Amino acid sequence: MLSNRQLFLSHVAQTSTSPLMLEIERAQGMYMYATNGKKYLDLIAGISVSNLGHSHPVVVAAVKEQAEKYMHLMVYGEFVESPQVKYAKRLTEFLPKNLNNVYFTNSGAEATEGAMKLAKRTTGRTQFVSFKNAYHGSTQGALSIMGDEYFKRNFRPLLPDTLQLEYNNERELKKISERTAAVIIEPVQAESGITVPSKNFIQALREKCNETGTLLIFDEAQTGLGRTGKMFAFEHYEVVPDILLLAKALGGGMPLGAFISSKEKMSSLSENPVLGHITTFGGHPVCCAAGLAAFNVLAGQNLTMQVDIKGKLFEELLVHPKIKSKNRIGLMMALEFEDFEQNKKIIDRCIENGVLTDWFLFAPYCMRIAPPLIISEAEIKLACETILSAINAAEN
Ligand code: PMP
Repeated sequence: MLSNRQLFLSHVAQTSTSPLMLEIERAQGMYMYATNGKKYLDLIAGISVSNLGHSHPVVVAAVKEQAEKYMHLMVYGEFVESPQVKYAKRLTEFLPKNLNNVYFTNSGAEATEGAMKLAKRTTGRTQFVSFKNAYHGSTQGALSIMGDEYFKRNFRPLLPDTLQLEYNNERELKKISERTAAVIIEPVQAESGITVPSKNFIQALREKCNETGTLLIFDEAQTGLGRTGKMFAFEHYEVVPDILLLAKALGGGMPLGAFISSKEKMSSLSENPVLGHITTFGGHPVCCAAGLAAFNVLAGQNLTMQVDIKGKLFEELLVHPKIKSKNRIGLMMALEFEDFEQNKKIIDRCIENGVLTDWFLFAPYCMRIAPPLIISEAEIKLACETILSAINAAEN
Protein backbone atom coordinates (compact mmCIF):
# COMPACT_ATOMS: atom_id res chain seq x y z
CA MET A 1 0.00 0.00 0.00
CA LEU A 2 1.26 3.48 -0.81
CA SER A 3 2.06 5.73 2.13
CA ASN A 4 0.36 9.09 2.62
CA ARG A 5 3.65 10.72 1.68
CA GLN A 6 3.71 8.89 -1.66
CA LEU A 7 0.04 9.68 -2.29
CA PHE A 8 0.70 13.33 -1.41
CA LEU A 9 3.35 13.54 -4.12
CA SER A 10 1.27 11.80 -6.76
CA HIS A 11 -2.22 13.21 -6.14
CA VAL A 12 -1.90 16.53 -4.33
CA ALA A 13 -0.79 19.22 -6.78
CA GLN A 14 2.69 20.43 -6.06
CA THR A 15 4.15 23.81 -6.87
CA SER A 16 7.13 23.47 -4.55
CA THR A 17 10.04 21.36 -5.74
CA SER A 18 11.07 20.63 -2.16
CA PRO A 19 8.02 20.41 0.12
CA LEU A 20 8.80 19.98 3.82
CA MET A 21 6.81 16.70 3.79
CA LEU A 22 6.10 16.63 7.53
CA GLU A 23 2.99 14.62 8.32
CA ILE A 24 1.33 16.08 11.38
CA GLU A 25 -1.35 14.18 13.25
CA ARG A 26 -2.07 16.77 15.92
CA ALA A 27 -1.09 20.35 16.71
CA GLN A 28 -1.65 22.04 20.05
CA GLY A 29 -0.43 25.41 21.29
CA MET A 30 3.22 25.89 20.29
CA TYR A 31 3.77 22.32 19.12
CA MET A 32 3.02 20.10 16.15
CA TYR A 33 3.09 16.33 16.65
CA ALA A 34 4.14 14.24 13.66
CA THR A 35 3.25 10.71 12.63
CA ASN A 36 6.95 9.83 13.02
CA GLY A 37 6.58 10.39 16.78
CA LYS A 38 8.51 13.67 16.79
CA LYS A 39 7.25 16.98 18.08
CA TYR A 40 8.12 20.35 16.58
CA LEU A 41 8.24 23.74 18.22
CA ASP A 42 6.55 26.06 15.71
CA LEU A 43 8.50 29.21 14.84
CA ILE A 44 6.47 30.18 11.77
CA ALA A 45 2.81 29.85 12.81
CA GLY A 46 1.73 28.60 9.37
CA ILE A 47 3.16 31.89 8.00
CA SER A 48 1.76 34.34 10.53
CA VAL A 49 -1.60 32.57 10.88
CA SER A 50 -1.66 30.79 14.24
CA ASN A 51 -1.14 33.81 16.50
CA LEU A 52 -2.75 32.00 19.46
CA GLY A 53 -0.96 28.75 18.73
CA HIS A 54 -2.66 25.71 17.28
CA SER A 55 -6.23 24.69 18.05
CA HIS A 56 -6.76 27.16 20.87
CA PRO A 57 -9.58 25.67 23.00
CA VAL A 58 -11.71 28.84 22.83
CA VAL A 59 -11.45 28.86 19.03
CA VAL A 60 -12.20 25.13 18.76
CA ALA A 61 -15.28 25.60 20.96
CA ALA A 62 -16.49 28.48 18.77
CA VAL A 63 -16.03 26.37 15.62
CA LYS A 64 -17.99 23.48 17.11
CA GLU A 65 -20.76 25.70 18.38
CA GLN A 66 -21.20 27.51 15.07
CA ALA A 67 -20.92 24.31 12.96
CA GLU A 68 -23.75 22.84 15.00
CA LYS A 69 -25.93 25.95 14.53
CA TYR A 70 -25.36 26.51 10.82
CA MET A 71 -22.62 26.41 8.22
CA HIS A 72 -23.09 27.84 4.71
CA LEU A 73 -26.52 29.35 4.20
CA MET A 74 -26.35 31.76 1.31
CA VAL A 75 -23.84 33.68 -0.82
CA TYR A 76 -22.10 36.67 0.78
CA GLY A 77 -24.11 39.65 1.88
CA GLU A 78 -27.67 38.35 1.47
CA PHE A 79 -28.51 36.95 4.90
CA VAL A 80 -27.82 38.52 8.27
CA GLU A 81 -25.34 36.02 9.67
CA SER A 82 -24.55 36.84 13.27
CA PRO A 83 -20.88 35.65 13.33
CA GLN A 84 -20.14 38.06 10.45
CA VAL A 85 -22.04 40.92 12.02
CA LYS A 86 -20.41 40.48 15.40
CA TYR A 87 -16.91 40.17 13.97
CA ALA A 88 -17.29 43.18 11.68
CA LYS A 89 -18.54 45.26 14.60
CA ARG A 90 -15.74 44.09 16.91
CA LEU A 91 -13.00 44.76 14.33
CA THR A 92 -14.25 48.23 13.55
CA GLU A 93 -14.31 49.09 17.27
CA PHE A 94 -10.50 48.80 17.10
CA LEU A 95 -10.17 50.83 13.90
CA PRO A 96 -10.29 54.54 13.00
CA LYS A 97 -13.66 55.96 11.92
CA ASN A 98 -12.95 55.81 8.17
CA LEU A 99 -12.43 52.03 8.41
CA ASN A 100 -15.95 51.19 9.47
CA ASN A 101 -17.12 48.73 6.81
CA VAL A 102 -15.81 45.18 6.36
CA TYR A 103 -16.01 42.97 3.28
CA PHE A 104 -15.03 39.43 4.31
CA THR A 105 -13.19 37.23 1.81
CA ASN A 106 -11.76 33.71 1.83
CA SER A 107 -8.12 34.69 1.59
CA GLY A 108 -5.53 37.45 1.45
CA ALA A 109 -5.36 37.41 -2.33
CA GLU A 110 -9.10 37.91 -2.59
CA ALA A 111 -8.87 40.82 -0.18
CA THR A 112 -6.27 42.37 -2.51
CA GLU A 113 -8.48 41.77 -5.55
CA GLY A 114 -11.50 43.31 -3.85
CA ALA A 115 -9.51 46.34 -2.71
CA MET A 116 -8.15 46.91 -6.22
CA LYS A 117 -11.66 46.84 -7.66
CA LEU A 118 -12.86 49.20 -4.95
CA ALA A 119 -10.02 51.62 -5.75
CA LYS A 120 -10.79 51.57 -9.49
CA ARG A 121 -14.48 52.02 -8.85
CA THR A 122 -14.18 54.92 -6.40
CA THR A 123 -11.42 56.88 -8.17
CA GLY A 124 -12.28 56.11 -11.82
CA ARG A 125 -8.53 55.59 -12.35
CA THR A 126 -6.61 52.52 -13.44
CA GLN A 127 -2.98 52.77 -12.35
CA PHE A 128 -1.72 50.80 -9.35
CA VAL A 129 1.53 51.56 -7.62
CA SER A 130 3.17 48.91 -5.45
CA PHE A 131 6.71 48.14 -4.34
CA LYS A 132 9.64 45.96 -5.27
CA ASN A 133 9.69 42.72 -3.24
CA ALA A 134 6.02 43.14 -2.33
CA TYR A 135 3.72 40.14 -2.06
CA HIS A 136 -0.04 40.62 -2.16
CA GLY A 137 -1.26 37.20 -3.32
CA SER A 138 -1.02 34.79 -6.22
CA THR A 139 -4.19 35.52 -8.23
CA GLN A 140 -3.75 37.51 -11.43
CA GLY A 141 -4.59 41.00 -10.13
CA ALA A 142 -2.44 40.48 -7.04
CA LEU A 143 0.32 38.97 -9.17
CA SER A 144 0.26 42.06 -11.40
CA ILE A 145 1.34 44.21 -8.46
CA MET A 146 3.85 41.73 -7.05
CA GLY A 147 7.29 43.25 -6.81
CA ASP A 148 9.28 40.44 -8.38
CA GLU A 149 9.69 39.80 -12.09
CA TYR A 150 10.74 36.14 -11.75
CA PHE A 151 7.34 35.14 -10.35
CA LYS A 152 5.40 37.19 -12.91
CA ARG A 153 7.27 36.68 -16.15
CA ASN A 154 5.65 33.48 -17.39
CA PHE A 155 2.10 34.50 -16.51
CA ARG A 156 1.84 37.56 -18.72
CA PRO A 157 -0.25 39.30 -19.90
CA LEU A 158 -1.19 40.58 -16.46
CA LEU A 159 -2.96 43.82 -15.57
CA PRO A 160 -1.60 46.80 -17.50
CA ASP A 161 -0.77 50.12 -15.85
CA THR A 162 1.12 49.01 -12.77
CA LEU A 163 4.32 50.47 -11.38
CA GLN A 164 6.65 49.04 -8.74
CA LEU A 165 8.66 51.56 -6.75
CA GLU A 166 11.62 51.07 -4.47
CA TYR A 167 10.40 50.47 -0.92
CA ASN A 168 11.28 52.98 1.79
CA ASN A 169 12.68 55.53 -0.70
CA GLU A 170 10.97 58.92 -0.42
CA ARG A 171 12.37 60.12 -3.77
CA GLU A 172 10.34 57.43 -5.53
CA LEU A 173 7.05 58.87 -4.30
CA LYS A 174 7.06 61.59 -6.97
CA LYS A 175 6.03 58.87 -9.44
CA ILE A 176 2.61 58.71 -7.77
CA SER A 177 0.28 60.99 -9.72
CA GLU A 178 -3.32 62.03 -10.42
CA ARG A 179 -3.49 58.91 -12.61
CA THR A 180 -2.84 56.57 -9.69
CA ALA A 181 -5.94 54.82 -8.35
CA ALA A 182 -4.17 53.38 -5.33
CA VAL A 183 -0.85 52.68 -3.75
CA ILE A 184 -0.75 49.29 -2.10
CA ILE A 185 1.91 48.65 0.48
CA GLU A 186 2.80 46.32 3.33
CA PRO A 187 3.52 48.60 6.30
CA VAL A 188 6.34 46.15 7.05
CA GLN A 189 7.49 44.15 4.05
CA ALA A 190 7.47 40.50 5.02
CA GLU A 191 8.71 38.33 2.15
CA SER A 192 11.66 40.62 1.44
CA GLY A 193 13.09 39.38 4.77
CA ILE A 194 11.29 41.81 7.13
CA THR A 195 11.90 45.36 5.92
CA VAL A 196 10.72 47.99 8.38
CA PRO A 197 10.31 51.35 6.63
CA SER A 198 10.90 54.70 8.30
CA LYS A 199 8.01 56.62 9.82
CA ASN A 200 8.96 59.52 7.54
CA PHE A 201 8.55 57.38 4.44
CA ILE A 202 5.09 56.13 5.41
CA GLN A 203 3.97 59.63 6.41
CA ALA A 204 5.31 61.11 3.15
CA LEU A 205 3.46 58.39 1.25
CA ARG A 206 0.22 59.30 3.03
CA GLU A 207 0.76 62.97 2.14
CA LYS A 208 1.49 62.20 -1.50
CA CYS A 209 -1.67 60.11 -1.72
CA ASN A 210 -3.68 62.97 -0.18
CA GLU A 211 -2.19 65.43 -2.67
CA THR A 212 -2.97 63.29 -5.71
CA GLY A 213 -6.34 61.90 -4.57
CA THR A 214 -4.86 58.40 -4.59
CA LEU A 215 -6.16 55.76 -2.20
CA LEU A 216 -3.67 54.26 0.22
CA ILE A 217 -4.09 50.52 0.78
CA PHE A 218 -2.24 48.84 3.63
CA ASP A 219 -1.83 45.11 3.21
CA GLU A 220 -1.68 43.83 6.78
CA ALA A 221 -2.16 40.15 5.93
CA GLN A 222 1.00 39.34 7.88
CA THR A 223 1.43 42.38 10.11
CA GLY A 224 -2.14 42.66 11.38
CA LEU A 225 -3.54 41.38 14.66
CA GLY A 226 -0.66 41.81 17.05
CA ARG A 227 2.29 40.43 15.09
CA THR A 228 4.29 43.69 15.18
CA GLY A 229 3.51 44.54 18.81
CA LYS A 230 0.48 46.69 17.95
CA MET A 231 -2.94 45.41 16.97
CA PHE A 232 -2.36 46.88 13.47
CA ALA A 233 1.05 47.87 12.09
CA PHE A 234 -0.27 51.22 10.79
CA GLU A 235 -0.40 52.36 14.43
CA HIS A 236 3.44 52.51 14.44
CA TYR A 237 3.37 55.33 11.88
CA GLU A 238 0.38 57.39 13.04
CA VAL A 239 -1.00 57.08 9.54
CA VAL A 240 -4.39 55.70 8.59
CA PRO A 241 -4.95 53.94 5.26
CA ASP A 242 -8.08 54.31 3.10
CA ILE A 243 -8.36 50.56 2.73
CA LEU A 244 -7.00 47.95 5.11
CA LEU A 245 -6.38 44.32 4.11
CA LEU A 246 -6.40 41.56 6.70
CA ALA A 247 -6.01 37.80 6.29
CA LYS A 248 -3.82 35.04 7.78
CA ALA A 249 -4.51 35.36 11.55
CA LEU A 250 -7.94 36.91 10.93
CA GLY A 251 -9.72 33.53 11.00
CA GLY A 252 -7.96 32.15 14.09
CA GLY A 253 -6.71 29.23 11.96
CA MET A 254 -9.70 29.13 9.59
CA PRO A 255 -9.63 30.69 6.10
CA LEU A 256 -10.70 34.32 6.27
CA GLY A 257 -9.58 37.63 4.80
CA ALA A 258 -11.09 41.10 4.62
CA PHE A 259 -10.84 44.44 2.90
CA ILE A 260 -12.01 47.22 5.13
CA SER A 261 -12.88 50.79 4.16
CA SER A 262 -15.54 53.41 4.75
CA LYS A 263 -19.21 52.63 4.31
CA GLU A 264 -19.32 55.44 1.75
CA LYS A 265 -16.59 53.99 -0.47
CA MET A 266 -17.76 50.42 -0.07
CA SER A 267 -21.28 51.33 -1.21
CA SER A 268 -19.88 52.03 -4.70
CA LEU A 269 -19.67 48.25 -5.12
CA SER A 270 -23.44 47.96 -4.99
CA GLU A 271 -24.17 50.32 -7.87
CA ASN A 272 -23.25 50.29 -11.55
CA PRO A 273 -22.89 47.38 -11.53
CA VAL A 274 -24.95 46.07 -8.68
CA LEU A 275 -23.11 43.14 -7.07
CA GLY A 276 -19.77 44.73 -7.92
CA HIS A 277 -17.97 42.08 -5.91
CA ILE A 278 -19.33 38.61 -5.25
CA THR A 279 -18.21 35.59 -3.24
CA THR A 280 -19.99 32.40 -2.26
CA PHE A 281 -17.99 31.49 0.81
CA GLY A 282 -16.36 34.78 1.85
CA GLY A 283 -17.13 35.46 5.53
CA HIS A 284 -18.15 31.85 6.14
CA PRO A 285 -20.00 31.75 9.48
CA VAL A 286 -17.69 29.12 10.99
CA CYS A 287 -14.59 31.11 9.95
CA CYS A 288 -16.04 34.34 11.36
CA ALA A 289 -17.00 32.63 14.63
CA ALA A 290 -13.45 31.23 14.90
CA GLY A 291 -11.89 34.57 14.01
CA LEU A 292 -14.01 36.49 16.50
CA ALA A 293 -13.16 34.04 19.29
CA ALA A 294 -9.45 34.35 18.47
CA PHE A 295 -9.67 38.13 18.25
CA ASN A 296 -11.33 38.33 21.66
CA VAL A 297 -8.61 36.15 23.24
CA LEU A 298 -5.90 38.26 21.60
CA ALA A 299 -7.44 41.55 22.74
CA GLY A 300 -8.56 40.23 26.15
CA GLN A 301 -5.19 38.78 27.20
CA ASN A 302 -3.25 41.79 26.06
CA LEU A 303 -0.94 39.43 24.20
CA THR A 304 0.13 42.24 21.91
CA MET A 305 1.82 44.06 24.81
CA GLN A 306 4.27 41.17 25.28
CA VAL A 307 5.14 40.75 21.62
CA ASP A 308 8.01 43.22 21.52
CA ILE A 309 9.56 41.89 24.76
CA LYS A 310 9.51 38.38 23.29
CA GLY A 311 10.96 39.58 20.00
CA LYS A 312 13.76 41.39 21.84
CA LEU A 313 14.66 38.20 23.72
CA PHE A 314 15.05 36.36 20.39
CA GLU A 315 17.23 39.18 19.15
CA GLU A 316 19.42 39.19 22.27
CA LEU A 317 19.90 35.44 22.31
CA LEU A 318 20.57 34.96 18.62
CA VAL A 319 24.13 36.19 18.42
CA HIS A 320 26.56 34.36 16.15
CA PRO A 321 29.25 35.47 13.71
CA LYS A 322 27.42 33.62 10.91
CA ILE A 323 24.32 35.79 11.37
CA LYS A 324 24.97 38.70 9.03
CA SER A 325 21.99 40.79 10.07
CA LYS A 326 18.75 40.62 12.03
CA ASN A 327 15.67 42.46 10.86
CA ARG A 328 12.84 42.54 13.34
CA ILE A 329 9.66 44.19 14.46
CA GLY A 330 7.62 42.52 17.21
CA LEU A 331 7.58 38.79 16.55
CA MET A 332 8.48 39.07 12.86
CA MET A 333 12.16 38.45 12.37
CA ALA A 334 14.63 37.53 9.65
CA LEU A 335 18.12 36.17 10.32
CA GLU A 336 20.38 36.74 7.36
CA PHE A 337 22.97 34.12 6.42
CA GLU A 338 25.57 34.00 3.67
CA ASP A 339 23.38 32.35 1.04
CA PHE A 340 20.43 30.02 0.53
CA GLU A 341 22.58 26.87 0.79
CA GLN A 342 23.84 27.81 4.23
CA ASN A 343 20.39 28.92 5.38
CA LYS A 344 18.78 25.70 4.11
CA LYS A 345 21.35 23.55 5.93
CA ILE A 346 20.64 25.38 9.19
CA ILE A 347 16.88 25.16 8.70
CA ASP A 348 17.07 21.43 7.93
CA ARG A 349 19.15 20.88 11.08
CA CYS A 350 16.64 22.89 13.16
CA ILE A 351 13.77 20.77 11.85
CA GLU A 352 15.71 17.56 12.57
CA ASN A 353 16.12 18.85 16.11
CA GLY A 354 12.45 19.71 16.54
CA VAL A 355 12.27 23.42 15.67
CA LEU A 356 10.20 24.36 12.64
CA THR A 357 11.31 27.35 10.59
CA ASP A 358 11.77 28.28 6.92
CA TRP A 359 12.92 31.06 4.59
CA PHE A 360 11.31 34.01 2.79
CA LEU A 361 9.98 34.09 -0.77
CA PHE A 362 12.20 36.98 -1.91
CA ALA A 363 14.99 36.45 0.65
CA PRO A 364 15.86 32.74 0.54
CA TYR A 365 19.09 33.48 2.43
CA CYS A 366 17.09 34.63 5.50
CA MET A 367 15.56 32.40 8.18
CA ARG A 368 12.00 33.22 9.21
CA ILE A 369 11.11 33.60 12.88
CA ALA A 370 7.42 34.40 13.35
CA PRO A 371 6.11 32.08 16.07
CA PRO A 372 2.66 32.08 17.62
CA LEU A 373 2.46 35.11 19.89
CA ILE A 374 1.86 32.85 22.90
CA ILE A 375 5.45 31.56 22.85
CA SER A 376 6.93 31.46 26.39
CA GLU A 377 10.33 32.64 27.58
CA ALA A 378 11.46 29.03 28.08
CA GLU A 379 10.37 28.15 24.53
CA ILE A 380 12.22 31.15 23.11
CA LYS A 381 15.38 30.02 24.92
CA LEU A 382 14.98 26.46 23.65
CA ALA A 383 14.38 27.70 20.09
CA CYS A 384 17.45 29.94 20.18
CA GLU A 385 19.69 27.18 21.59
CA THR A 386 18.53 24.87 18.80
CA ILE A 387 19.13 27.51 16.12
CA LEU A 388 22.61 28.36 17.46
CA SER A 389 23.65 24.72 17.61
CA ALA A 390 22.31 24.21 14.07
CA ILE A 391 24.45 27.14 12.91
CA ASN A 392 27.50 25.60 14.58
CA ALA A 393 26.78 22.21 13.04
CA ALA A 394 26.34 23.78 9.59
CA GLU A 395 29.86 25.24 9.81
CA ASN A 396 31.39 21.78 9.79
N1 PMP B 1 -0.57 39.78 1.37
C1 PMP B 1 0.50 39.45 2.10
C2 PMP B 1 1.34 40.53 2.72
C3 PMP B 1 0.83 38.11 2.29
O1 PMP B 1 1.90 37.78 3.01
C4 PMP B 1 0.01 37.12 1.72
C5 PMP B 1 0.30 35.65 1.89
N2 PMP B 1 1.61 35.28 2.10
C6 PMP B 1 -1.09 37.51 0.95
C7 PMP B 1 -1.35 38.86 0.80
C8 PMP B 1 -1.97 36.52 0.26
O2 PMP B 1 -2.72 35.79 1.17
P1 PMP B 1 -3.36 34.39 0.72
O3 PMP B 1 -2.25 33.41 0.63
O4 PMP B 1 -4.34 34.10 1.83
O5 PMP B 1 -4.03 34.60 -0.57
